[in-house]
Amino acid sequence: MPDRDTHKRSLVKGFTWRFLGTLDTTLISWAVTGNPLKAISIGGIEVFTKVILYYFHERVWQNIRWGKGVLRTVIYPEERLKNIHPVFDRILSREDREAYLDQRSKVIWLTGLSGSGKTTIAQILEKKLFEAGVFCQVLDGDNIRSGINNNLGFSAEDRQENIRRIAEVAKLYLNSGVVTICSFISPLRQMRNTARNIIGAEDFVEVFVDTPLAVCEERDVKGLYQKARKGEIEEFTGVSAPYEAPENPALVLHTASQTPEASARELFEFILPSVKPVDDE
Ligand code: ADP
Repeated sequence: MPDRDTHKRSLVKGFTWRFLGTLDTTLISWAVTGNPLKAISIGGIEVFTKVILYYFHERVWQNIRWGKGVLRTVIYPEERLKNIHPVFDRILSREDREAYLDQRSKVIWLTGLSGSGKTTIAQILEKKLFEAGVFCQVLDGDNIRSGINNNLGFSAEDRQENIRRIAEVAKLYLNSGVVTICSFISPLRQMRNTARNIIGAEDFVEVFVDTPLAVCEERDVKGLYQKARKGEIEEFTGVSAPYEAPENPALVLHTASQTPEASARELFEFILPSVKPVDDE
């Protein structure tokens, strides 16, 4: 709990308080006895007993809530309350959350070869949306493969399971009102169909980051193509495993002829009207 003092703080407070207290006791003892030596020895003994007493006194009071007043945890800005009708006796709906955040949630699903530009675009897009007042979250290999999916490899089965879990996580974010940007190769149509079915076709925005294999290989951001060509990586998408281009994506980004900024801007302008409608009514 943030309002609790640490043990160290209680101890240091004990020392500062004792210094003042002992000075006071010593001066009073001196005034009463007229003997400075007696006064110093009274103060000297007291300093040890009182420091220990103070520490325990503080720790006991830490456990007593009485007299602390009411803890206020949530303050709803009036402006946002205008559009929602919070009913605290039921679970908040997605609509309640969207109204609170003043946005509509979507899952933006970036698919494309390794090195096509998904991560780069996702990061620039996240920043742009955030600056436009849209609350969003990127899901990518970094936060998914190293966490919830750290028990999955790259076999066909594991890849399918990888996408299924990502889609389930994205759906949770979606239902929390968050605009979720997913950046995964997701090479097979069947995988993306699984994701679409879990998320719901209405909210699944498929974006094809369309970059020719030769360009991705030339970029070879992580040196993976070189390894795949040498046979050091098995079933590498585009080299030794298939990539099936989307048949009907919501948007296609041609990154070979664009700067990362231009690609991200194109996607930003495409998505903004559906996540931040100008007029909700
Ligand atoms: P992926 O996540 O698809 O594997 P990355 O985003 O990690 O790809 O790498 C893409 C590389 O391509 C980056 O070095 C990026 O600077 C470069 N690049 C060049 N043009 C673009 C573009 N228009 N959009 C995105 N990335 C681009």
